[in-house]
Amino acid sequence: MDEAKQKPGPSDTATDQPYNFMHHRSPAAISPPTQSRTAMYQSSPSPQGQPFSPQGQNVPSPLSPQPSTPTGPDPVHDLPEELLQMGWRKFWSKRERRPYYYNKRTNESMWDIPPLSSPGFVQNDPLGINTVNREQQDIRLSRNSLDIGQKRRLSEDHAMGPPAKKPSSGVQIPIVPSQYWDFAINTNALFMERKPINVLPPQPEIEYERSNICNRLRISYAELCKSREGLDAPKESFNRWLLERKVIDKGNDPLLPSDCSPVVSPSMYREIISDIPVKLYRPKYASEARKQLFRYSEAAKKRIDSRNVSSESRKLVKWNVEDTFSWLRSQQQASVEEYQERLGHLKEQCGPHLTDAAKHSVESICKKMNQMSRDAAKKISEKHWEILREHGITDVPYYRDPQHRKVPCYAVQLAVPSPRLPRVDYTVEGELTCLKYKDQVCKVNSAHFQKLEQLYKLHCLDDPRFDNFLGRAWCLLKRYQTMFGLRTNEGSGLQGALPIPVFQVLNRHFGVTFECFASPLNCYFKQYCSAFNDVDSYFGSRGPVLDFYPVSGSFEANPPFGEELMEAMVDHFESLLDKSTDPLSFIVFIPEWRDPPTPALVRMEASRFKRKQCLIPALEHEYRSGTQHTCSSHELYYRAVHGTLAFFLQNDAGFEKWGPTPDRVKALLDAFIPVGNEVGQNSGHRESGGHNNSTGNHTKSSSSSSDVSAVSR
Ligand code: SAH
Repeated sequence: MDEAKQKPGPSDTATDQPYNFMHHRSPAAISPPTQSRTAMYQSSPSPQGQPFSPQGQNVPSPLSPQPSTPTGPDPVHDLPEELLQMGWRKFWSKRERRPYYYNKRTNESMWDIPPLSSPGFVQNDPLGINTVNREQQDIRLSRNSLDIGQKRRLSEDHAMGPPAKKPSSGVQIPIVPSQYWDFAINTNALFMERKPINVLPPQPEIEYERSNICNRLRISYAELCKSREGLDAPKESFNRWLLERKVIDKGNDPLLPSDCSPVVSPSMYREIISDIPVKLYRPKYASEARKQLFRYSEAAKKRIDSRNVSSESRKLVKWNVEDTFSWLRSQQQASVEEYQERLGHLKEQCGPHLTDAAKHSVESICKKMNQMSRDAAKKISEKHWEILREHGITDVPYYRDPQHRKVPCYAVQLAVPSPRLPRVDYTVEGELTCLKYKDQVCKVNSAHFQKLEQLYKLHCLDDPRFDNFLGRAWCLLKRYQTMFGLRTNEGSGLQGALPIPVFQVLNRHFGVTFECFASPLNCYFKQYCSAFNDVDSYFGSRGPVLDFYPVSGSFEANPPFGEELMEAMVDHFESLLDKSTDPLSFIVFIPEWRDPPTPALVRMEASRFKRKQCLIPALEHEYRSGTQHTCSSHELYYRAVHGTLAFFLQNDAGFEKWGPTPDRVKALLDAFIPVGNEVGQNSGHRESGGHNNSTGNHTKSSSSSSDVSAVSR
């Protein structure tokens, strides 16, 4: 290994004290009088670049980088999580010069990777819910967290990262049960083995930069809308732009769109155009409706006068506006409906001309955003590589293609190794844990901070001593904070989660063990897909769902309500269902928007894989807040203002195994009923407290006109 690769990371020079991860369990013991303390990293660098071998040799493995590369998972634990949990470990035979597998529980040994049909494996579980004796596991999980011996055993059972034989160098994180997630549930999702992906590992300095740039982009977007169209940027449209662009982006930045074709984003274009000439809303009172009609007319006239349009268009718009003004003069006491009808008529007449007049300029806003984002991503990538090179990492290690075989799905592995991250300060303020890098503090509920610790312990392969934990947790929190946006509550609608009882029923009755849309902050299961490969991978993410190709398993999908992403999701699920003959099932929850219907809704209603659909009516169910990791418990649930449609998309084997029988569907619908509330009443709240009356999960007006439909194939 060359000298540069052995250079210690920046934090190696800091005062080294071990980080006490028991802090949140005994606050009094860990909080010095100042209520602030700094987490330090352990003194010696972690053994990056030295795959651990029980025989003391460096060994090649199909999933490890080649020996010349600076890092790699240790081969003992270089196995899918479920095999590790069954007791399988991978070793190197010196004599045969090939790997072999040994089961520490049953004393079996094998030359080939143990078959997936080994006793106890999820495939033998008729509901696909679990392989472990849940009762036994629950008892163990509920043991006192101070039982060190017990904790160690739990860590070994669940962890992929720390070598079981060196507990003293690993951090002890008990996997404790929570009412908000269930990490005892193992996955029944199988996919074809995949190799590490070429994505750069997170760096606080880069995340800091990316966040500043993204915030500036948001401001530029608002300014462009104002200066060119005289509009406030449509609410959340920047966030939906990010979502939509990611469906087609071929660039390398995890957040910022950088290689998209077409460059004009359909969602950004659509949302700006729909606010031209003014933003419309649903009025409650006649006076509001009258005012809105007047405003629209004025704005339409002004706009058509100031734009370069054909005289024909100008004449038509002006005539319609004048007609509306005289109607308004003659109708002083019209009803909301009458004003709205008149507005609809005016829109129909003027809309196409106003759109024509604005088309060029709105497209130029979209193009400008695309260009700025692309330039920013390039700058960020250059800086990222600069930092990596300073640590002796100069290129992407080579990985052989893995064998073509089905394995239980495991978290994304990054091909490029991660250097030691710089120092991140840690403090506790009441219920909040605060992580600070430079001048930027990320706050998270201490319960969710513990959740991150547990996910890291369960999934992270390259950091058994948690040397990089705080740095990575800060990057993750910063990424989501940046993704949410700058205003209070912004972005949280795109992160709203299903209630806990719904997940419980999905698991117990439909064998669901996996969320297709999640984050480390809102996941219920420990296996899930999420928006970001890089920051989320250490916390168990299987990556963005459109890049995830399961061949079997039972999945829940509650996508962020962005039209393009939802439609791409349907394409993806249908293609997966089409290709697999193993049991495969997706239970998808989307809003019931029928005015006009979203492409995803239309597609699923007509899907040949649809076994059933059912409606959970508007205002009769709740979502969990997208800010569940920062909000207080009384803000946790909010009432859905739109109906939610559940679709059961299953192939034949999936239908046979997890089909929507009447009993199961009833259990699911019951689970949506807010606790302490009967269907139809609007007063429910959960044990966690009341709900707020937030207008909507996903910032779009809803229509809840359709019947509860239960269409079976
Ligand atoms: N897991 C919860 C909450 C879902 S909210 C549930 O299933 O009820 C939707 C989540 O999808 C958000 O956390 C969002 O960040 C995530 N997401 C966005 N784009 C994604 C993608 N391409 N793949 C997977 N998840 C994505």
